[in-house]
Amino acid sequence: MSDHGNAAPRPGVLAEQTWPAMREGAWPVALLPFGATEPHNTHLPYGTDTMLGAEVAARVAAHAIANGTGVVALPPIPFGVNTTQLDLRFTINIMPSTQLLVLRDVIRSLEPNGVRALVLLNAHGGNELRALVRELQPSTSIILSIVNWWQAADASVFREPGDHAGELETAAIMHIAPGLVDADRSRWGNGQVNPSIFDGTRAGWAWLPRRWTQLTADTGVGDPRSATPEVGAQFMAQAVERISGFCAQLAVADADALWRSE
Ligand SMILES: [Zn+2]
Repeated sequence: MSDHGNAAPRPGVLAEQTWPAMREGAWPVALLPFGATEPHNTHLPYGTDTMLGAEVAARVAAHAIANGTGVVALPPIPFGVNTTQLDLRFTINIMPSTQLLVLRDVIRSLEPNGVRALVLLNAHGGNELRALVRELQPSTSIILSIVNWWQAADASVFREPGDHAGELETAAIMHIAPGLVDADRSRWGNGQVNPSIFDGTRAGWAWLPRRWTQLTADTGVGDPRSATPEVGAQFMAQAVERISGFCAQLAVADADALWRSE
């Protein structure tokens, strides 16, 4: 996390740059982190997803710039789709239809700046961004894509990565913001979930949104208790390297030949 006021601006992190720093040079790729504001078991902060999205974006920008590709990390969207968690205190929801409007306006703002590709860097499972991209892609020349950051690296480094505030997210926050993790591990919930009553959803061919207060007692999904900051660092570094490589490809991709015989 940046130490506001004392730390130097991080390369490509738009919110920390001056206008002269951005006026020059080419910025072919932009990253837009999508976060959420919601309880994360009993040991992680409400802003977990937003912080992780913003941090991965900042590190991807730094990595890409160091390797010669202009990548700008936009400020994260701090609210996500949480329509089935509103009975958990201070969960802040925005609707998918609101996300569509925000994204449309961000794309329009990017268009005059020479941005060739926009990566929606998602950090929250409830943000189902594909429908937004399907709706907006025909009306912009910017190549739109989605990366769920937690799927970009090899999760086999975890005993059980978990879903929400599980081992993966806990390890990642322990790495980037250890002071925000409850230091008393005896207070961490075990993230145990109740199974669905429906055969079809348990088998995976039927789906309905999970009602969080019926699903889990501590709001967590997945056991966080074997998380370590070292594995969080390792996982995040691999995600950053891979996403940076994707950005480097996007920066020079021909939008009319994204699929072709080799
Ligand atoms: Zn999360």
